[in-house]
Amino acid sequence: MICVPIIAPTPERIEREIHFATPLADLLELRMDYAPRADLKRLIETRRKPVIVTCRPEREGGQFRGEESERLALLQRAIDLGADYVDVEWDSVGALRRGGHTRMIVSRHDFRRVPENLESLHAELVAAGADIAKIACTATSILDNLRIFRLLKSTKHPTIALCMGEAGAISRVLGRKYGAFLTFGSAARGKESAPGQFSAAQLREMYRYKQIGRATDFYGVIANPVGHSMSPAIHNAAFAALNMDAVYLPLKVECDPAEFVRAFRELDARGYSVTLPHKEGILAGMDELSPLARRIGAVNTVVCRQGRLHGTNTDVPAAIGALEEAVAGGTKAAAVAERSPLADRRVLLLGAGGAARAVAHGLIEKGARVAITNRTPERAVALAREVGGEAVTMEAAAGIGAEIVINTTSVGMYPHVCATPLPREALRKGMVVFDAVYNPPETRLLREARETGCRTIGGIRWFVSQAALQFELWTGRPAPRHVMERVVRQRLEER
Ligand code: NAP
Repeated sequence: MICVPIIAPTPERIEREIHFATPLADLLELRMDYAPRADLKRLIETRRKPVIVTCRPEREGGQFRGEESERLALLQRAIDLGADYVDVEWDSVGALRRGGHTRMIVSRHDFRRVPENLESLHAELVAAGADIAKIACTATSILDNLRIFRLLKSTKHPTIALCMGEAGAISRVLGRKYGAFLTFGSAARGKESAPGQFSAAQLREMYRYKQIGRATDFYGVIANPVGHSMSPAIHNAAFAALNMDAVYLPLKVECDPAEFVRAFRELDARGYSVTLPHKEGILAGMDELSPLARRIGAVNTVVCRQGRLHGTNTDVPAAIGALEEAVAGGTKAAAVAERSPLADRRVLLLGAGGAARAVAHGLIEKGARVAITNRTPERAVALAREVGGEAVTMEAAAGIGAEIVINTTSVGMYPHVCATPLPREALRKGMVVFDAVYNPPETRLLREARETGCRTIGGIRWFVSQAALQFELWTGRPAPRHVMERVVRQRLEER
């Protein structure tokens, strides 16, 4: 069930929040500590969804600052008025008289950490008469979620257990797989009642929360930061389009990524995407590596099969596939011919960071002749030496007779959309120009290349293609690329 907390200070705003939240929610939590003078009787009598009445004192992280007797009287009144649920703190439950059909949620919070004695605290809540036991505690590491999942798995008693904070966000979705009684989702973004909460709309639409069950396959993206990642939106949309029982989560991994994947083995994830800054660090946690991942020392995809973690890289085939297709005139058939259309082509690679490294390795393997230029020349020299290319200065770059230009710098990326990494004069009709930047979808470099008569490849193509290849490795099914691309474009428009 998805519960939407109603947090508003005045009767009018409470009404408005209830109006918006009702279609999204299975039940509403009336946070009376934010509006203790609101008309509780009316709120309960006119409810269109079941309600939890909560009046959280400051000591448990709430807003109620009045007398304890006043607070308990309010909760007792909620029971007497027939509220569906009343949430009462572990140390106050003895003060309330049960009545009617009201079910008691007995809750305990820890805003500093996940307590060591989670199981015994849970047992105390049950012994205190909880119809539903609730434990909410702050995660200081993503690994803390494992303890919440173990608690949920170990009990048959109806339980709400979750980690607060960004590190604990996944417990709010994945808890359902392990039997959580409900999760909380905000009425809208920015209206969260606790840190790490998703909106109810995100839970319903993007994570398909209500379809999650014990058999749901779990995937995620390992990154830090992860909030900006579009991967959850596109992979979840792909799973939904194929009606697959799977969920994909953002995993903010601040610890060593190899330690993370080792610890998370017990959850039996099916696969991970890996992105900045963990593509190299994760290698140590793999049981096997593809030859490509081993050669370039970077993993962007983990496939989990029969308990073994296989690290591979889809960035390289995605970029090279797009380039081969463009050079071969847009035909896939030509691109899969024995000799790559990239063989012996003169390529100018702008940049020497992570993206450049992946592309450079792929190009050299296909027999292209690669010249690398970079703002920091030493990095260009180092990359050229590593892959077997040539480092050139920016001034020399225009004169090398490149047939293919690839930008892997962040120049031209939103909000600096007027910038370009290569002057228009360096572009020639018939060139293939590939820009790794995907925001905006058409950078200044790509626009000028198009206007000059070049064939262009945008960063969205690369991004979607590496994700689609991941999806195919994980599931063995063709990825719905059009759905994935549509989601990326929508997301970029919303930004
Ligand atoms: P990175 O490792 O941090 O490398 C950044 C590169 O950009 C370096 O070569 C850096 O030069 C250069 N650079 C940054 N600011 C610059 C400036 N103002 N002027 C000139 N050069 C500048 O990052 P990355 O992972 O390679 O990513 C680079 C870009 O590719 C980003 O825009 C990223 O979004 C994009 N990307 C797209 C995809 C996709 O799927 N479409 C995949 C990966 C990356 P220095 O060495 O001098 O710092």
